[in-house]
Order: sequence, then C-alpha cells, then structure tokens
Amino acid sequence: MTHAYPDTALLIGGQWREARSGRRIAVRNPANGEVIGHVAHAGIADLDEAIRWAEQGYRTWRAMCAHERQAILRGAADLLRARASDIARLLTLEQGKPLREAEVELEAAATITEWFADEAMRRYGRIVPPRKPGVVQQVLVEPVGPVAAFTPWNFPVNQVVRKLAAALAAGCSFLCKAPEETPASPAAMFQAFLDAGVPAGVLGLVYGDPAEISGHLIASEAIRKVTFTGSTQVGKHLAALAGRHMKRSTMELGGHAPVIVAEDADIGLAVQAMAAAKLRNAGQVCISPTRFLVHRDVKAEFVKGLLDHLGTARVGDGMDPATTMGPLANERRVAAMHQMVNDAQAKGAELLLGSQEPASGGYFHAPTVLDDVPLASDIMIHEPFGPVIALRTFERLDDALAEANRLPFGLAAYGFTRSLKTMHALTQGLEAGLIWLNQPALALPEMPFGGVKDSGYGSEGGPEALDAYSVVKSVSAAML
Ligand code: NAD
Repeated sequence: MTHAYPDTALLIGGQWREARSGRRIAVRNPANGEVIGHVAHAGIADLDEAIRWAEQGYRTWRAMCAHERQAILRGAADLLRARASDIARLLTLEQGKPLREAEVELEAAATITEWFADEAMRRYGRIVPPRKPGVVQQVLVEPVGPVAAFTPWNFPVNQVVRKLAAALAAGCSFLCKAPEETPASPAAMFQAFLDAGVPAGVLGLVYGDPAEISGHLIASEAIRKVTFTGSTQVGKHLAALAGRHMKRSTMELGGHAPVIVAEDADIGLAVQAMAAAKLRNAGQVCISPTRFLVHRDVKAEFVKGLLDHLGTARVGDGMDPATTMGPLANERRVAAMHQMVNDAQAKGAELLLGSQEPASGGYFHAPTVLDDVPLASDIMIHEPFGPVIALRTFERLDDALAEANRLPFGLAAYGFTRSLKTMHALTQGLEAGLIWLNQPALALPEMPFGGVKDSGYGSEGGPEALDAYSVVKSVSAAML
C-alpha cells in the first residue's frame, strides 16, 4: 500500500517556496529505501533572505504582549493535537518509527507548546533594593534575539518543538535547519504555528547542506543565539563557531546511558522499563539505555527477562500496526550497528540475541544483546544510537559507578534498587544531567533536560529553557 507524502519547501517570510536555485534533495522511506518525495535545498541567497525575515520577525514578535504570545502558542498546541494523526503519518513514513510512537511524539509536542505558552506569562524581572534613597534598580529579562536552531532526524518534531516553543515564549524569532532526511513532519508542525497566528518572519525553516547553513547563520550579525541537538562531534564544531562569533549557545549532544541494576532491584520493573526504552525509536534516542551494569546475584534473572521481552519484538514497517520496532532512520545507522556488534564479538563479547542477517529492503537491525562486553570495544566507548545492548556484571556498587562515569558523556543514567542508601549513592555519584531511578525516562516540559561533560550544556526544559533564550538588563536610575 502506498501513502501520500508531500514535497517540502522552505519557509521564508511566512511563505513556502522552492530554493532560488531550484535544487532539491530526495527523501527516502527507511522501511523500504524508496524515494518518497523531495525537500528544497537552500542556497546562500535563500539563507540571507531568511535572516532578514528573522530580524524583521523578531521586531514584530518582541513588541507583542506576553499574553498575545501565550494565546497564539496555545492555539498552535490545539492545532497540533487536531492534526496529530496526519503529521504522525508523515513522521513514520520519513523516519520509520511505529505510528503509535509518532502519535505520542505529536501529543508531547502539543503538551510542550502549552507549557511554554504559559511560561511566556512568567518572564519576571526584579526590583532590587538600592543603596541610596531615590535610586531604582531594575533587572529586566528580555529575549536574546533571532535564534538559529539545528535539529536531528530521530525526533523530527520534538527536537524542534522544545527549542521553538521556548524561544517563541521568550520573545525570540526562530530560524531552523531541520533534518533533510525527515523534512515533512517538522514542516507540518511549523504550519500549525503559522495557522495559529505566528506573524511572518517569526518562524523560518530551511534545509540544505548542514555545514554550509550552520556556517552562514552562526556567522551572521543578526543571529544572537545558536541551539543544536546532535552528535558531540558536530556539537563541538558548532560550539567553537558560536564562540568565534560570540554567540550564546545550547548544546544537546550525545550520551551513552548507564543502567545500574542493583542486587535488591525489582527485576520485573527493571526489565520492563529498560527493554521498552531500548526498543523505543529503535534505540536512536540520546537518552536510550546503552551500558547495562547488572549485579552478579540478579544477572541471570535480569538477562532472562530481557531476552524474553526483546525476543517478542515485532520489527517491521512503522505503518504496520503490529510493528513494535521500526527500521533505523538511515543506512548509516545500520552500517554503524554492524561494525559495533562485529567489533565487540571480535574482542570477546558473547552474542545473546540478535541476527547479523540484514533484512531485505529497508534499514532494519534486530534488537541485539551482547554480554561480557570488553571495555575496549567500540560500543563501550562510542554512542551506539541503535537497538544494541551491552551487558556487564558488577559486584560492588562503587565499581558500577566508576564504569558509569568512565566515559566523557554525561546525559542520562538509570538505576534500579529498593535501597534508599543505594538511591542516594546513585543520585550523588552519577555524572549525568538526567537521572531516572526505578522508572523509565520521562522528558516532561517542566523538568530541565540537558547533559554535562561532553553531552553538552544548557537545558531544554523547565524555566531554565527560557533563560537560554533570554538576556538580562541591569538598570539603575537615580530619580531627580
Ligand atoms: P551527524 O553527526 O553527521 O549528524 C547529526 C545531526 O547534525 C544531523 O541532523 C545533521 O544534519 C546535523 N549536522 C551535521 N553536521 C552539521 C553541521 N556542520 N552543522 C549543522 N548541523 C549539522 O551524524 P548522523 O549520522 O546524522 O547521526 C549520527 C550520530 O549523531 C548518532 O550516532 C548520534 O550520536 C548523534 N545524534 C544525536 C541525536 C540526539 O538526539 N542527541 C540525534 C541524532 C543524531
């Protein structure tokens, strides 16, 4: 059965249009590798036009009252909910995840937009007591200015909306380079914001050559803030560019999340939460559990539960309602998984689950479990970003913590234990920006979301997310 999938244009000055050059990039369905549409490829002339509109849009948007911005953003959230199933369908066609997961992503996008809409009403400054009579000291919170955002293909809608909703709530205009592999679902999301009344120029959306676009936008005088989600390697490059041009930046980068299963854990809960998390988006999630560190006394029970759960996964086309895990989003990930699994086995790891046989047609990779994985294996050093679990055994909690903190990453970490003392040790000892204990990850808009160490800096949740799109102005006035 074929599904309708639209071509995607550039959004510049409130209008959708092709690139001036007419260049386009093919978009493929990862479930079968077939070309399903095209996306416009912006050139420098398009980018310059988008930058001029972002400056103009910023002037319009920051001049509006906070409650007008709130109303428009709330309207966008309503439209996202109303259009969720249509946009989710586009998302699955271009990205591969099961349709149900895409619908959850859209529901989350509406919730995130609503939360930030209301935060727009809570950008308070301060009046600070003066040291002399007749002096008024104010701290004003203002939008930072036009934002350049760069977002990846794993959550084509949510990686954008967390940035977009926070930036708009803070009063900024927002120019985004969204992923060329998955262009239609973010474009449909932008349309919901336009239809809700976001004025022309406040939102811009471009696609093309990532390095050319980031190089041009970050160097532009008009852009005041850079926000990126993606790999640590690209993040370091963009952070350096932002530094050279004195731009504020938020970097939401890679992770390699440890899972510590203590001897007193609820094993059923640990299996259920972590196996489901591993299958989600075929493991292509920056907070996906990756290094499983299991206490020797419960290892056999945990591994049995894990294999039982993963063994029932239905890998297939995300449009098929029976599918519980879709294909990987692109061919690069399949090659990366094969390389990491082969390398671990060559270095002594045992393959407990998973087939190396490539499924024909799409970019599929079976859920895979490796045991006793040597620390020198690539998969114990680099972020897997796919449906592969690396297991190791521990006896002392300190050793598990040392392994959890061994890598330069510091995004998510998970722990399972019934002991308050162990919970405290994990909370205090894990070097991670996000810790979930006895539960799966929940990225709620009201909670900060971001990493430490090489996983980046800045937050995409909570009031901290708005701070990232704001500047403070300190005003001291003597009354004459
Ligand atoms: P990649 O590192 O080349 O690209 C990651 C993202 O960054 C893509 O969306 C890409 O378009 C963008 N990008 C690349 N170079 C850029 C540049 N110079 N300027 C602006 N944007 C640029 O690799 P990939 O093959 O797309 O993904 C592989 C790795 O990226 C994964 O292994 C994972 O570590 C990381 N990744 C992380 C997230 C996340 O949520 N943190 C999402 C997607 C990918």
